[in-house]
Amino acid sequence: MDLKELYRDVILDHNKRPRNFGRLDPSDAHADGHNPLCGDRLSVFVRMDGERVEDVRFEGKGCAISTASASLMTEAVKGKDKAVIGALFHKVHSLLTQQDAVPGAELGKLAALSGVREFPARVKCASLCWHTLNAALDKGASTVSTE
Ligand code: ZN
Repeated sequence: MDLKELYRDVILDHNKRPRNFGRLDPSDAHADGHNPLCGDRLSVFVRMDGERVEDVRFEGKGCAISTASASLMTEAVKGKDKAVIGALFHKVHSLLTQQDAVPGAELGKLAALSGVREFPARVKCASLCWHTLNAALDKGASTVSTE
């Protein structure tokens, strides 16, 4: 399957049936994100186990790319340490913004997001969930440090 097909199939599937959609209750932290360029709004909820994201969910309303990207992100980061998630975000960001970035195997289905770079106006739709997750994890960090 080439990347164009992968992009279309994965984005359509995750937009139609978003994974990990809904509030997480209880959660250790959440953050709200807004992309005024497109009108996407989403909230990301995390439950932490030390440095590890034990569970993550999101809710909100947005375009197909923002919803699919958030769905893919929750699948990719669940159960991972914050340091691993930070590295993953860096790779996703390169994939979205650098025309010659080649997705490595560690990205899994996130590789489909490389299709977004053909539509530069939509890059913020795809990265919104990651920025929102980072904001939630920063809050989580301040909670963890008091323990
Ligand atoms: Zn959008």
